Amino acid sequence: MDCTYDDCANEATYSYMWAWGEEGACCDTHRIILEQTSQRLNRSVSFTSLAAPATMPPASSWDRPGLEKALRLATSELQEKIPLLGEAQMRVLELEELNKELTAELGKLRRQAFSPKETPDSAEPPHGSPSPPVKLQLKHSKERA
Ligand SMILES: [Zn+2]
Repeated sequence: MDCTYDDCANEATYSYMWAWGEEGACCDTHRIILEQTSQRLNRSVSFTSLAAPATMPPASSWDRPGLEKALRLATSELQEKIPLLGEAQMRVLELEELNKELTAELGKLRRQAFSPKETPDSAEPPHGSPSPPVKLQLKHSKERA
């Protein structure tokens, strides 16, 4: 059905009925014009949708294959990223392990540096007396021993 408003050639999307009984069919553009006319005249006009699916499809008629395709695409993209995530987690574990090793190594070096066998000067900066943390460390290791 075509829009019956003047000589409009658009496909009608609504049928309308004026308060006084006059009926017709109109396109989206002329629906707006009819509403404006109705406000100006202060007379009601009612619209009935002729082609609802063309404008706003109800949820039940959504493009299900299209949605499923989009879902599959998103899922495969996610699956592509999972190995990357695994790699990142492995790297974190490696770094944590390395951190543990380095911490242990540092502890060993500290104990060596402050052990009575070694000369403390070798680990000290070229000038100045031992700094407070060194004294603390010394005291600490003595307490432990
Ligand atoms: Zn029209």
